[in-house]
Amino acid sequence: MTTVAGTPPNVQRTISPVDGSVVAERELAAPGHIDAVLDRAVAAQRAWRSVPLADRVAVVERLVPWMVERAGAIGAELSWQMGRPVAHAPFEITRGFAERATWLAGAAADALADTDVGADGGLRRFIRHDPVGVVLVVAPWNYPYLCSVNAVAPALLAGDAVVLKAASQTPLVAERWHEGLAAAGLPDGVFQFVHTDHDGVAGMVGDPRVDYVAFTGSVAGGHAVQRAAAGRFVGTGLELGGKDPAYVRADAPLEATVAELVDGVLFNAGQSCCAVERIYVHRDLFAPFVEAFAAAAASYRLGDPLDRATTLGPLVRAQAAAFVRDQVAEAVTAGARPLVDREAFPADSVGTPYLAPQVLVDVDHGMRIMTEETFGPAVGVMPVDDDDRAVELMNDSAYGLTASIWTADVDAAVALGDRVDTGTWYLNRCDYLDPALAWTGVKDSGRGVSLSTLGFRAVTRPKSFHLRTSL
Ligand code: NAP
Repeated sequence: MTTVAGTPPNVQRTISPVDGSVVAERELAAPGHIDAVLDRAVAAQRAWRSVPLADRVAVVERLVPWMVERAGAIGAELSWQMGRPVAHAPFEITRGFAERATWLAGAAADALADTDVGADGGLRRFIRHDPVGVVLVVAPWNYPYLCSVNAVAPALLAGDAVVLKAASQTPLVAERWHEGLAAAGLPDGVFQFVHTDHDGVAGMVGDPRVDYVAFTGSVAGGHAVQRAAAGRFVGTGLELGGKDPAYVRADAPLEATVAELVDGVLFNAGQSCCAVERIYVHRDLFAPFVEAFAAAAASYRLGDPLDRATTLGPLVRAQAAAFVRDQVAEAVTAGARPLVDREAFPADSVGTPYLAPQVLVDVDHGMRIMTEETFGPAVGVMPVDDDDRAVELMNDSAYGLTASIWTADVDAAVALGDRVDTGTWYLNRCDYLDPALAWTGVKDSGRGVSLSTLGFRAVTRPKSFHLRTSL
């Protein structure tokens, strides 16, 4: 949590990146309150797990229209909290949230059905997928509804109780979840939220009443959760950062590829775990690619996210913009060439969260911009001579969340995908989560799976039924 000067120690104050105003002030939960929340969660879960699956599914299905009807207001609230342009913010609800929650509700019956391993002589044998119990969900601010729905929806569907800790930058998200689920008919106590600091999170991770922790955020946060869990056998799902590469082959259609990749780099001001952060382009296409790419990046409109014409909002806070400026400046000092003229973006201002996009060439892997998560509107583009070099560079990373290839050759794409260390491999698309597919990362991008039918495994525990039907 960022401490804001002048804030009383027991208060969480959220400062808007839009204009530096206070968006929300929330009292941090006292230890006694967290204790009561966990007791309540345990009690509520005992009853909830016995509610028929069809009724649990119905709650999630009723939540979706409740959220979608309010997407405009929720989107504007999000813009104030974390700076995404109001023209883009509601899509988090109307597209991603609705799509994932609806898919998960539809998949629950199959995903949670007993696994029948077949009869063996006089034995009946199956594996039941019991709810794990109380699930603690710790969510980030960058896609606060999308990241939380990945864990909250399967947990509720499986018969778990949920305690949500939203990011201090987006505390209102937890409150909207609570209102929506109450309106959808979820019994009291099955979903609760707490506004708490990192010690409060560590306390809950270490508490025997918590049965699973779904953490989404930074690598440092993931390590902190691991440390807090060290004295217990509690499961942790860690969805962490990325430095996602794209490889553009010589046969990629230039215009469409540039359009998709610019969006993959700059949507949400680059503050996406699976934003494209480095691009390798076949040498034959390199010159026209970078020319078109830089022109497309330069056409973005940086400014007040509440203005509907804005396509690039501020970063979440001034320090985040300073971090990106440093990465870019360091690369330029080492020989990189910036292709976007900052002067053409009057809203770009040092010391504020408003930052122009940047596209760098003449970069290499000795520069942080090509290896360290940027989480901002800047990207490095490198030429490559062949597939082998592209694979080598894509794998030269501490991360492995997603990677994409842009080509007309589907067979080559599949073959190369086998050689890339990544959780998701895309052909001709990027920066998108398909709820039917497993969302996972390798290396520092984390551990565990959400979404898909496999995502239900994290919030359930297998119980084997080994039944001799007659003696
Ligand atoms: P963050 O600083 O790690 O925060 C994420 C959440 O964890 C917040 O609720 C935060 O609380 C809490 N937290 C942070 N450090 C903690 C600690 N030491 N102990 C306990 N709780 C802690 O990450 P962020 O800045 O919100 O999000 C950006 C990062 O998340 C990027 O690295 C991005 O790539 C990653 N991300 C990954 C995925 C994915 O699916 N793999 C999705 C989205 C984002 P406070 O807000 O109170 O600090």
